[in-house]
Formats: sequence, C-alpha cells, structure tokens
Amino acid sequence: MKKNLFIAFEGIDGCGKSTQAKLLTERLLKEGHKVYSTFEPTDSEIGQLIRNVFARKIDSNHHTIAALFLADRFHHLLNKTNGILSKMEEGYTVITDRYYFSSYAYHSVHMPMEWVIEANAPCAEMLRPDLTIYIDISPKVSMDRIQKNRESTELYETLDNLTLVKANYYKAFDKLKEQEAIFITDGNRLPEHIAQDIQQKIRGL
Ligand code: ADP
Repeated sequence: MKKNLFIAFEGIDGCGKSTQAKLLTERLLKEGHKVYSTFEPTDSEIGQLIRNVFARKIDSNHHTIAALFLADRFHHLLNKTNGILSKMEEGYTVITDRYYFSSYAYHSVHMPMEWVIEANAPCAEMLRPDLTIYIDISPKVSMDRIQKNRESTELYETLDNLTLVKANYYKAFDKLKEQEAIFITDGNRLPEHIAQDIQQKIRGL
C-alpha cells in the first residue's frame, strides 16, 4: 500500500457495512497497518441528536436532519481529538461506516440531490474517499435482516423508503462517476466471500 487510505462503506441499512468494516479493519491491522475505524452518525453530541431523531424521541423534519448530518460530518472530519483529518495526518488508514454518499441517497428522497451534493461539497474538497465500497442487497433482504435483529424499526427503515434510497445511491454513483472511486459488491454472499472481494480491490489501490 502506497499511502494511508480513506475508505467509506455505503449501502442501505442491514447490508453488512459494519460487518465488512470490522473484517477489513482486522485484516489491515493483521498486515501491520495503522487503522482507525469510525462511523456516521458519530458518537458526538450531534450524532446523539440524530440517533434520538431516528428513535423518534425528538420530533424533526427532513431538512433539519440533513443539516444535522452535515454538521456531524464536519465534526467527524475536523475535530481535534479523533477527527478523520487528524487521523489521516497521523498516518492511519481510516475506514468509515457511512460518509457523504449516505446523505446523497437518504436525504434526496425528500429534497433535490443537487442541493445535498452542493451542501456536502466542502467535505468532498477536504477529503474524498480513495474508495467508496457499496454493498448491494435488496430492500427486502434489508428489511428481513433489520426485523430479525431488532424489536423496533427506525425512521428510514421501511421497504418503500429503502427502495427509494437504493435507487438514489445508483443515481448518485452515476452522477459522480468521474470524480469518485466506487466499488460495488454483491452483499448476498457469505461475509467472508464479500470480505475477500473487498480485500482484493484494496490491494489493487
Ligand atoms: P449494516 O452495518 O449495514 O447495518 P450489519 O453489518 O450490522 O449491517 O449487518 C446487519 C445484520 O445482517 C447483522 O445481523 C449481520 O450479522 C447480518 N449480516 C451481515 N452480513 C451478512 C451477510 N453477508 N449475509 C447475511 N447476513 C449478514
């Protein structure tokens, strides 16, 4: 590996992002790399606010949610304690479970995608992923996995919404294919097989 990489995992809920982020982190650590694994929404106070909206503890609206995600992302990048930019500077390979493509896909169900992309442009300018890995599953499989694992569903977790979100991911990938490095992998296989695919792709970078 030439330099420390910034890798973002994307996909609809339950696609296996956190499973794969963990497997990749373990693999790279084993190979002797410095790895910092992180996620959005973050565990900051802004991230907590978002989680409370998701859990329907706080009433909100889609524009406020989009703005909260953006604030959380700036904090994620810029905070001095464990911000992504600091970690990159320190030589860590950073793996994040969700980044700005999640905003493009989820918020654009309710507002123009161009607006969401424009609002996130400073993040893209500060740090573009060396690779965005999209784990592809159907909304039906997503809902089955969510319902199997949890007693309640969160705000975005309905079959109709996830169908729109998935379509938005592909729309965003197509829109930004010149600027972004995107790797789509089939999430319907065994986690180990998906992990092998991802590791092979990363080795190629
Ligand atoms: P996400 O972070 O994308 O929401 P998770 O990694 O938390 O997804 O996985 C959601 C659920 O699906 C978990 O119960 C996990 O064990 C399971 N899971 C993850 N990857 C796979 C897979 N490839 N096949 C079947 N189930 C999976």
